Amino acid sequence: MKHRFWPSATLAAALSFTGSLAQAFDLGSAVSAAGKGLKAATLSDAEVADVARQVSASEDKRNKVAAAGSSYAARLDRLAAGLKSEDGLKLNFKVYLNPEVNAFAMADGTVRVYSGLMDKMNDNELRFVIGHEIAHVKLGHSKKALQTAYAASAARDAAAASGNTAVAVLSQSALGDLAEKLIHAQFSQSQESDADAYSVRFMQTHQYDTQAASSALRKLQDLGGGEKSMFSSHPAPGDRAKQVESQLKG
Ligand SMILES: [Zn+2]
Repeated sequence: MKHRFWPSATLAAALSFTGSLAQAFDLGSAVSAAGKGLKAATLSDAEVADVARQVSASEDKRNKVAAAGSSYAARLDRLAAGLKSEDGLKLNFKVYLNPEVNAFAMADGTVRVYSGLMDKMNDNELRFVIGHEIAHVKLGHSKKALQTAYAASAARDAAAASGNTAVAVLSQSALGDLAEKLIHAQFSQSQESDADAYSVRFMQTHQYDTQAASSALRKLQDLGGGEKSMFSSHPAPGDRAKQVESQLKG
């Protein structure tokens, strides 16, 4: 599935992130891209979760959140009733009233499901998607995506810094770049397959109907879809459906 894990890290979130950048590097002096890259590879879990919290808070402000008790919110509450915490990750759920067929999870346990996805899938299919999104967090994929974005952003920033005069301008630019990278973070083929496999086990553990794993992926395949959806992923959802079907037979 194509993920928009950090769908639109707003300037506010990006600015909060400036703190980490500024603390991590002495932006007043010339810092090598290599040095920044090194730091990018050592972001702690706490730092990743902190950024995730800030980004999800800002996304919740930017998006239309289904009101508590509304039909979408009530349905998600019901189908996620057994999912207070997963594999040590404390979860919090909300619906975004958005026709996009999408969902994401973040390192702080945030899970957001778009109404467009809820319109297309039954409860167990939604649970499979939720398990898949949680997998990207638990398997370290989201952390890696953040680190990659962080490194790329810092490296470009360092290049642009030659001859730069104002630290503030430099930070803003680095962070705008970082936000852009996060928005377009996409997972690899093997990460998608691993997340599917994790979610099948998740379905088994919670005794949800595992058949929904296959039907959710087949629905994605049948729906096709454009750039801004979970559909435009590799491997194709149809191939992923075959993979989970063989996992279930095995
Ligand atoms: Zn995925």
